[in-house]
Amino acid sequence: MYVSEEIIEKIKDSNDILDVISETVPLKKSGRNYWGLCPFHNEKTPSFSVTQDKQLFKCFGCGEGGNVITFIMKTRNLGFNEALRILAERANIPFEESPEKKREKDRLEVFYKMHVDAARFFFQNLSNNKEVREYLYKRGIKDQTIRSFGLGYALNSWDSLLKYLRSRRYKEEDIVKCGLATKSEKGKVYDRFRNRIIFPVFDIRGRVIAFGARVLDDTKPKYLNSPETPIYNKGTHLYGLNFAKKNSKETSLIMVEGYMDLISLSQAGIQNVVASLGTALTKIQGRLLRRNSEEVYICYDADTAGQKATVRGLEILQAEGVKVKVVQISKGKDPDDYVREEGKEGFLKLLENALPLMEYKLIQEKEGLNLDSDEGRITYTKRIAEILNELDPIEKEVYLQKVSEDAGISERAIRKYMGNQNENSTLGTPYPENLTVYIEQGHVKAERSLLKILSENRSYLNERISLSDFIVPAHQKIYRILENYENGEISLQSYVLSQCDDAESSKEWTLIGQVAEIPEVDVEVLIDDFLKTINHYKGKIKQKKLQQEIKALEKAGNFEESVKLANELISLQKTLGRY
Ligand SMILES: [Zn+2]
Repeated sequence: MYVSEEIIEKIKDSNDILDVISETVPLKKSGRNYWGLCPFHNEKTPSFSVTQDKQLFKCFGCGEGGNVITFIMKTRNLGFNEALRILAERANIPFEESPEKKREKDRLEVFYKMHVDAARFFFQNLSNNKEVREYLYKRGIKDQTIRSFGLGYALNSWDSLLKYLRSRRYKEEDIVKCGLATKSEKGKVYDRFRNRIIFPVFDIRGRVIAFGARVLDDTKPKYLNSPETPIYNKGTHLYGLNFAKKNSKETSLIMVEGYMDLISLSQAGIQNVVASLGTALTKIQGRLLRRNSEEVYICYDADTAGQKATVRGLEILQAEGVKVKVVQISKGKDPDDYVREEGKEGFLKLLENALPLMEYKLIQEKEGLNLDSDEGRITYTKRIAEILNELDPIEKEVYLQKVSEDAGISERAIRKYMGNQNENSTLGTPYPENLTVYIEQGHVKAERSLLKILSENRSYLNERISLSDFIVPAHQKIYRILENYENGEISLQSYVLSQCDDAESSKEWTLIGQVAEIPEVDVEVLIDDFLKTINHYKGKIKQKKLQQEIKALEKAGNFEESVKLANELISLQKTLGRY
């Protein structure tokens, strides 16, 4: 009896190998895999492993291995169809093909065949049109690429494909159903794709299931794609997956947005690439990625990657168990541009620097916020607290520390906020009391204390404490005001208050007034402490700057200069460490 490949796939999809094997072999998770005592040979320590990601089992003791169907065949000594029947029953999938099913299948076969014929027609058009080929060459596309991706050209005509398909005895109704032609309200039928470069879309088995079409000029829309059809559900495929599987041995996949990104990477010799064709990722695509890779590099345009929608898409992937890393390309560039300019090596370097999803999210949340302001840091703390709350305890610890160092917010403050959030989670948005008390960066408080000391003892001005010690602009302003004050009729307090003519400095002056009284005897020691705190912060800034400069120099190939800076960085880090 013949069972269609679709049904076999469906049966495999509906019978998770872990569930099936667990019914007869007790399994324990260790690392990525599950382990148990092999049912095919006698053993006392487990060497039989099941990989859920790949839906495979393997015994390292006796060498048996296979998928869920082979497991049933081997453990129950059954033929392929019998094993299939058992699994189909287990998942409640009707196994026998009904006459209606058969008719539907035949109908789909016609649609698949029509797409192959259309693809051939488009390909032939391109071969016959030197002008359009020149256009592709100019964009750096080689003949070899045109052949391997089956690129084509839709003539500048209303009915050339229609005529061709009719001549191949396809029904007009079916041609419209497949989205290759469109029917107007008045009932006129005409070609959907006109005067466009054609990219056939293949499914994982290499069948043409749809087309993407790009303009040659500035006409809108730039890309036009097949609509949903009986053989093409958007969001269930990944463009290029068939090629990636065939041409690459890499265990990772790089996901880009568009046809051209993928084709350029392929031409540069990077074959493990798929395109999402639109940024909204679906669960089904997530499962496809998981089944076909161990790790996924998301490599979208700098502009779109910044969108929250992308992060949500990435979360879908993560929820499906896909290990995701985000590749960051400098703003305004796409992978297509990048690989043309920097070549394969340059692009592989980008991959090396890809960020884990969590780190990428933290950077995203920071975007547009001014972390030097209280408001910015409060907003940032709220946002990341939500993210951190979803992590497991170990990850939480690691990222808490990271965020705290990065934003100058104490771990205690973040923890407190997260705690409040958990307790109040049913009561709407919580707002922790006195949050500002905790999120003040150390150097800001130190500067305030120094100004407090100066306001009480101006003899330290330009002696122990100088203008260049201060980082916060409002504090620099207050320092100058203190310098300018002359004893006279007006008190120092009123003088400074009158000179602090902007919101920031007058707020700061008020806060300085609230700094606790500093005991006379400790002043010298405390000044040293405050200066140390500020200098440590300056060192951190310097460190960041050096790291960026070194990166830029390395990228520019200026290694001599970068080594110099690296040494400077090392000695700076030593002093920072001693603090
Ligand atoms: Zn074994």
